[in-house]
Amino acid sequence: MLQLNSSDYKKIIEHGLRGKPLEICGLLVGHQTETDTVVSEVHEVDSKDLSEKTYNMDALKYMKIETDVQKRGLKIVGIYHTHPATEPYPSPTDMERAHWEGSDDLIFPGYSYLIVSLRDPANPEPRSYKLEGKRRPEDVREETIHIAQ
Ligand SMILES: [Zn+2]
Repeated sequence: MLQLNSSDYKKIIEHGLRGKPLEICGLLVGHQTETDTVVSEVHEVDSKDLSEKTYNMDALKYMKIETDVQKRGLKIVGIYHTHPATEPYPSPTDMERAHWEGSDDLIFPGYSYLIVSLRDPANPEPRSYKLEGKRRPEDVREETIHIAQ
């Protein structure tokens, strides 16, 4: 299960609506228990793609945030991004880029991939996934999202 508090969830939605029609992305930070991913902060990261259909997280910003959160005893537990006009399901490009180029190895094993569809801006559709490989849909495992007050 992915646990998120409502203020962080709102930040993600606001970021996504501000970015429309482009995809935006960011990091989920917190900790993992045996069964759950608990998010305690979210961080916006620039997407180098400036695209309506893909995102490409700025690697240097990622590293800077990682160093910063580790100093505070937290870790990066997932990545969020928006699908401005389509369903909240990993695209072929999402699957490809979750792996090292030319490899079947995930870049971030264990991460939650939160995708928020904003095709209806008044009704954001959040879905979260764990990836186990490159194949769609076999390697895409949806996880429950719990948004706490
Ligand atoms: Zn996507």
